[in-house]
Amino acid sequence: MTTSPTAPVADLDHAATTALRPEVAEAMAPFGADRYGNPSGTHRLARDAVRAVDEARERVAAVLGCEPGEVVFTSGGTEADNHAVTGGMPPRDGVPVCSAVEHHAVLEPVEALGGRTVRVDPTGRVDLDHLASVLDELGSSASVVSVMLANNETGVVNDLDAVAEVVRAHEPEVPGVPVHTDAVQAAAWLDLAVAARAADLVAVSAHKLGGPKGVGALVARRHAHLRPLLLGGGQERGRRSGTLNVAGIVGFAAALEAAAAEREEATDRVAKLRDRLAEGLAATVPGLVRTVPDGAAPVLPSVLHVCIEGVESETLLFLLESDGVMASAAASCASGAQEPSHVLAAMGVPTGLARGSLRLSLGWSSTERDVDLALRAVPAAVERVRSFG
Ligand code: PLP
Repeated sequence: MTTSPTAPVADLDHAATTALRPEVAEAMAPFGADRYGNPSGTHRLARDAVRAVDEARERVAAVLGCEPGEVVFTSGGTEADNHAVTGGMPPRDGVPVCSAVEHHAVLEPVEALGGRTVRVDPTGRVDLDHLASVLDELGSSASVVSVMLANNETGVVNDLDAVAEVVRAHEPEVPGVPVHTDAVQAAAWLDLAVAARAADLVAVSAHKLGGPKGVGALVARRHAHLRPLLLGGGQERGRRSGTLNVAGIVGFAAALEAAAAEREEATDRVAKLRDRLAEGLAATVPGLVRTVPDGAAPVLPSVLHVCIEGVESETLLFLLESDGVMASAAASCASGAQEPSHVLAAMGVPTGLARGSLRLSLGWSSTERDVDLALRAVPAAVERVRSFG
């Protein structure tokens, strides 16, 4: 479907990706035609690129609360998650464990390695008792425990200190089992130096916080044993081969810093927008259920996830787009198809209700106007879907 380029458009799908921040574009610009050196070389152009990457690494580390040497630049969140779960190539011995609501970038490698999933409670937070019993069962064969910091569909935030405590309580049965967290959705809103401090491995992606696509990092704490996932020229101290994406890395550092600098103000502003949206829709859309009831669990300020009775998400999204509102039902996948959500299923949301799921997500560039448009479009679209049938 095409929307007229002049029609008002509200992007309420910032959890899928965000616009490049102007300061990020500006920081990246010199690394196109001018400062294009390959940091693996030795001459002046190469040394310039090395300096840029080193500086970016220090800035990324400062925001993420780790040592610069603990930052492994990757092609984004998916690679970082795969690396953390597998431990590299060949994969770690043993059985990986993850929560049932992880992003596919964690679930798929866990599944491929014959791993185990841990139940979540009705809000989607990992069930710590079940995690403990899975670790009891596995004994010393657990290879990694992966629990996301914030969920990409609902925005629900896990307590990683508590997760790590359960894992550590199983030592020495599971000596040194690393805790991994996918912090891709959380990084724009939470201070990872605090929220992810208990994790040995932390995955972050630039494009979710106003940075470029195709770049991110895996923070691998000094003690976390990691084999390379990609073998080749030995970049990133042998932990990740491949010519570094210099412009992307510089942009990633700028985006992380910008997100950190505005975090307090942005969190407050965006939470107010989200709450106005939630209240407005609750008042105007009959049969709308907030998937995670207000106050039931910590949720990112940017996400409103609802399920609407008697409505199919796919039709609703089609009508919303024709009214200029971009939203999502579940996680976006490569085909763009709306697959049934494993997250909602794990939370115990009845299938009929889950069919009417709608994720409205805000970001650094969201405005009151976006909310106004959504408040007009969603009730009208729901009414139209219902009138069809
Ligand atoms: N993990 C989560 C929670 C995500 O939301 C995403 C992107 O949707 C990813 C991982 C994948 O990150 P990337 O798009 O950088 O590969």
